[in-house]
Amino acid sequence: PAKPIFSEQLPAGLQTISNIVAVSSCKGGVGKSTIAVNLAYTLADMGARVGIFDADVYGPSLPTMVSPENRVLEMNAEKRTIIPTEYLGVKLVSFGFAGQGRAIMRGPMVSGVINQLLTTTEWGELDYLIIDMPPGTGDIQLTLCQIVPLTAAVIVTTPQKLSFIDVAKGVRMFSKLKVPCVAVVENMCHFDADGKRYYPFGRGSGSQAWIAFLTVVQQFGIPHLFDLPIRPTLSASGDSGMPEVVADPQGEVSKIFQNLGVCV
Ligand code: ADP
Repeated sequence: PAKPIFSEQLPAGLQTISNIVAVSSCKGGVGKSTIAVNLAYTLADMGARVGIFDADVYGPSLPTMVSPENRVLEMNAEKRTIIPTEYLGVKLVSFGFAGQGRAIMRGPMVSGVINQLLTTTEWGELDYLIIDMPPGTGDIQLTLCQIVPLTAAVIVTTPQKLSFIDVAKGVRMFSKLKVPCVAVVENMCHFDADGKRYYPFGRGSGSQAWIAFLTVVQQFGIPHLFDLPIRPTLSASGDSGMPEVVADPQGEVSKIFQNLGVCV
């Protein structure tokens, strides 16, 4: 159990949250949202009070991945605060629940919207707030990391050379901000069929890119590496609005997320 963060400087809405964990990737489509959502529901299953903040203003995935009854965020007009919606006990805030179409916004506006959504939400007491970061390491991500006192970061990548190079960028960003990067998840590295294991992106280990990647991991002392296989059920559950760890709590995927949950 983590210690609560109590600081005068913290935005009021964040003062009752013990751990704020960023799930980050340098590219879109590598499985960052899938991992953020399944990690959140695993922590909830382990007994924690959990919230998810979907910070991807341009392409919010949370509304597809979970099925709250109330799909629009409510406002407390008097206090000028946002009430999160909820699905299976996890509190949820996403631009996709803001009741507007996808916006065309410039970077500084995006940072303002993210800041407002995040800090004026009535999160209440939470053990973990999982932030599904917008992909990349640009100004929006930096501003977000500066507003929020992150306690840990998880970086998601796929096993290709270009992605490994990007991981180094992500790790450096968090390192500069003094946020501990506790795990890297290598997603979609293999799948099993007909009793055999296939590596569709090539077998990373031994290649130059893999060695470069491991060097970064060692240099920054990232303590945990996870492999998440390609699983059709993981994709199908993401589309169905029920995370795989909820649909199959005893399954192979749930075990991986339980191990990741212990690390954050
Ligand atoms: P990101 O947040 O990085 O853009 P998503 O989590 O939205 O990525 O994942 C992109 C797509 O890939 C989604 O359709 C998701 O269901 C699917 N996906 C992610 N990880 C896996 C996996 N390990 N196996 C199968 N499908 C996956």
